[in-house]
Amino acid sequence: MKIGIIGSGIAGLMAARQLHEQQHAITVFEAQDYIGGHVKTVRDAAGEDGAGSMPVELGVFMHDPRYIHPTMNAYVRKLGVVSQPFKLCFSYSSAGHKLAWSTKSEYSGAVREWSLLLAVVWDGIRHGQGLRNWEFMFELRRFLRSLPKLCESQGYAGMRLEDFLRKENYSDCFVQTWMLPQILCWWGVTNTHALDTDVQVVASSMNDVVRTPQHFFTDGWDTFLKSVYSPYQERIQTSRRVTKINRCGDSVQVLVDGRVEDFDQVIVATPPDISLDLLADATPAEAAILQKFETITTTVYVHRDVSWLPAKKPWATINLMHDARGSLCTFWNGELHPEKPAVFVSWGDGLTAVPDPAKTLTTARWLRTLPTVNYTRASREIEAIQGAGGVWHCGAHVHALDADSIPSLWHENAFRSGIRVAEKIAAQQRGAA
Ligand SMILES: Cc1cc2nc3c(=O)[nH]c(=O)nc-3n(C[C@H](O)[C@H](O)[C@H](O)COP(=O)(O)OP(=O)(O)OC[C@H]3O[C@@H](n4cnc5c(N)ncnc54)[C@H](O)[C@@H]3O)c2cc1C
Repeated sequence: MKIGIIGSGIAGLMAARQLHEQQHAITVFEAQDYIGGHVKTVRDAAGEDGAGSMPVELGVFMHDPRYIHPTMNAYVRKLGVVSQPFKLCFSYSSAGHKLAWSTKSEYSGAVREWSLLLAVVWDGIRHGQGLRNWEFMFELRRFLRSLPKLCESQGYAGMRLEDFLRKENYSDCFVQTWMLPQILCWWGVTNTHALDTDVQVVASSMNDVVRTPQHFFTDGWDTFLKSVYSPYQERIQTSRRVTKINRCGDSVQVLVDGRVEDFDQVIVATPPDISLDLLADATPAEAAILQKFETITTTVYVHRDVSWLPAKKPWATINLMHDARGSLCTFWNGELHPEKPAVFVSWGDGLTAVPDPAKTLTTARWLRTLPTVNYTRASREIEAIQGAGGVWHCGAHVHALDADSIPSLWHENAFRSGIRVAEKIAAQQRGAA
């Protein structure tokens, strides 16, 4: 079959790989001038400190072989891609100084709860905020302990985070100094957007991050992607933005650069709002489901501006701050590098400033789906429109984990959704034969 795939994120690339292995004639259209979507690695950030040899990720950075990324990790190993363990530790500081906390690498593993709590208390003592930190510590302990129940209980299904926090009497201090910074780190938003998230999606991601014994970092996610697409690289067309998809009789027409190309099947591996825009003849069911998703844009800066890091060292891997610039998050993977290079990756919400342009190496703008209650519903409902008139969907927003699990926007889900859509096309073909 002749199959068109729109988007070269991990979802589109995995679908393409499976279908290529099944001898289908695939073509991948990618709007950007590089392959990979949210996977973008830079290696040319060379400086006196030797950062040039360190891969710096603008998008996806970590994976967890046990809970979050088991399938993808097995694939990483199968392809022989090098990964190394890294310490996922956090710091939080606020100019208004409600409370500052930091975690050590022991944040992961069996003792993570007590080590985190002791770190919070120790930080409080160091900063002369002891009593406040005690209150915060007990709230944090309550929240961390409630995570498994939050994930499992039907009573929390479809509940907005804000409603949960109110119902369970979490303090403003806890929301401002723990919940919002964490959501900024994982989903790029704070305030209203963060409070609109689905409490079970938030809880299941946090539960997985907290309980995993060890996080890993590949030797550049670009090397992993290259291993995925190298068998069919000549079938990928970059700088080719698709503008419309139209079903016409037995074929699906794709409009690119003013020209129409015909396919037997088309896989839309773009963010959901783009998928809807592309479907010129969207059915009411397709429109109703795709409209439920909400996307936002996160701008990410790779830079050397140390004012985006806490004034006090040691820096953590993920440094969360709130000050006159807004809420920001700065990732420092110097822990991985013997030279401890001063190269940082920052993003924020409601920012009134950007890192010093003279010290900025590169930027990226990411369109990402928000984990709202509607997202949770739509990510499951999308199953009902799969294959309609030869159009299929995959991507981080399409639920592809076990049917009874909570949807997630991690890379693992995007990876599996690409494989699954290819399997569905193969099954349909077998059925037709
Ligand atoms: C800053 C950041 C950090 C993250 N960190 C992690 C992490 O550490 N671990 C983790 O598991 N997950 C992480 N994620 C989530 C992860 O990125 C996603 O789950 C996954 O990579 C999304 O893949 P995708 O294939 O669905 O979409 P994308 O990667 O967004 O790919 C969609 C592709 O479609 C292309 N496209 C769009 N419109 C068109 C068009 N009209 N024509 C042609 N092509 C088009 C886009 O250019 C893009 O390449 C992170 C996300 C972000 C933004």
